[in-house]
Amino acid sequence: MISKTFSLIVLTSFLFSAIGCGKKDDGHIDCLPEDQQNSHRALVPEAPLHVVVDSSFDPTEVQQIQSAMRTWNGVGGFFNVQIGTIPADFRTNGFNPNNCGKAYGDRKTFYIVRHDGRSQWIFGDNVPGATVRCETSGGGLVQQIMMINPYLPNHNYKPEQFQSIVTHELGHTIGLEHSCGTAGDVGCDLPYNHPYHQAVMYPTISSSLPSTGRAEIKTSLNENDRSRAQCLYNL
Ligand SMILES: [Zn+2]
Repeated sequence: MISKTFSLIVLTSFLFSAIGCGKKDDGHIDCLPEDQQNSHRALVPEAPLHVVVDSSFDPTEVQQIQSAMRTWNGVGGFFNVQIGTIPADFRTNGFNPNNCGKAYGDRKTFYIVRHDGRSQWIFGDNVPGATVRCETSGGGLVQQIMMINPYLPNHNYKPEQFQSIVTHELGHTIGLEHSCGTAGDVGCDLPYNHPYHQAVMYPTISSSLPSTGRAEIKTSLNENDRSRAQCLYNL
């Protein structure tokens, strides 16, 4: 299961206007399907985002992260990446990304942090990746962080799903919510061939597909992922 956590922050002095987004006064976004009207969060105010990828990811993982970014950059130039050193306390028990009072990025820069194991992982055994965002009450992005845990014990996902998980989390970093499960939508009890289920932004991924017994791989965007991103950013 891929999941994410959002935290809200109330900072009345921050009012960022997102690029793109054809949002009307009544909140309706014409280019989103009726049942995905709420499938978005704060947009990125300025692209590309500057992404610092933890230097403790191994070379294969880095290559897959870069490939996932290229996938989204094919829709819009969302990401500009560098490999860097993660502040030491980001991997300690004392670091809680839900604490929006502490700066761990800004609206234009975020870290992708590699975790390793259970002891400091706050998201649960079946959550190999999470994106935490702090937003203003007015819907502006303040900061965000992505955390990936490739070796979570007792998990039920497969190593070959690493890039799929990162691709999903990157969708959250540009403000896409899940393809289902937001207010007013069709819910997530969808047949496998439903376009919202086939989307990278579907909230779960199978470690063993009934049809093949193989792990589900989602490294390409489907039409719904692509069109929602295009819609929100007027691409
Ligand atoms: Zn998610």
